[in-house]
Amino acid sequence: MRRLLFAIALLVSAGGMIRADEPAKPVKLLIITGDTHPAHDWKATTPALREVLSEKGRIDVDVTSTPAKDLTPENLAKYDVFLLNYLNFKKPGESPETTWTDANKAAFLKAIHDDGKGLVVIHHASGSFTRPNWVEFEKAVGGWRTQGFHGPAHQFTVKKSAESHPISVGAPAEFAHATDELYQNSLLPPGSVVLATAYSDPAKPKGTGKDEAVIWVSTYGKGRVFENVLGHDVATINDPGFQTWTRRGTLWAATGKVAPEVK
Ligand SMILES: [Zn+2]
Repeated sequence: MRRLLFAIALLVSAGGMIRADEPAKPVKLLIITGDTHPAHDWKATTPALREVLSEKGRIDVDVTSTPAKDLTPENLAKYDVFLLNYLNFKKPGESPETTWTDANKAAFLKAIHDDGKGLVVIHHASGSFTRPNWVEFEKAVGGWRTQGFHGPAHQFTVKKSAESHPISVGAPAEFAHATDELYQNSLLPPGSVVLATAYSDPAKPKGTGKDEAVIWVSTYGKGRVFENVLGHDVATINDPGFQTWTRRGTLWAATGKVAPEVK
């Protein structure tokens, strides 16, 4: 009996592995963007994210800059994972094609919570929908919201935490990140697992003297959520450390696993 159980355990673990010689079908990602925030130029960062994530053919990337048209149940069903490079920032009525309707919001949350689609949240996107606060979005995403803050952009080291996680396996133990904003006091949804931190030097303006969470994962219903507060601009997206973490996080959010060799 013990031998049989051992054989079954071996089969189960082999079935859960991605073999290096097995070409995996690319996952389908939709980048959601479109509003122009004065500090965050989506027209520059979106092509950079698209290039980083589609490299090596593991991820097929589509982009919508008209979420009012494209956040429908039928369209969202085509994807495995969504990436928010979006912060709703406009005057009421200014930009109907980028303004999420109640139907868009319901379709987005349902796709993650009920249908198990993955979600990747980059940098400023966790500051979306705070006025008024969209409570369910906050439960799914956490992050910047209204309590977050940062000092002047600077170079800092991003360190992998001790938590064991499929995303972390192939990620660097630490990397010296390009000049970026260090988000502090982020709101972590219940059950979040912090995968990487950066020390906020108290000698710098607004420094907290704490290891601040910069990359974490959580779940929202059936959906996996990967959050990376790095990525203010194209230079930060071009940082190899950012790229490895974000590729691995996107694949995990889409499928729940990542081949160890993905960099
Ligand atoms: Zn920023």
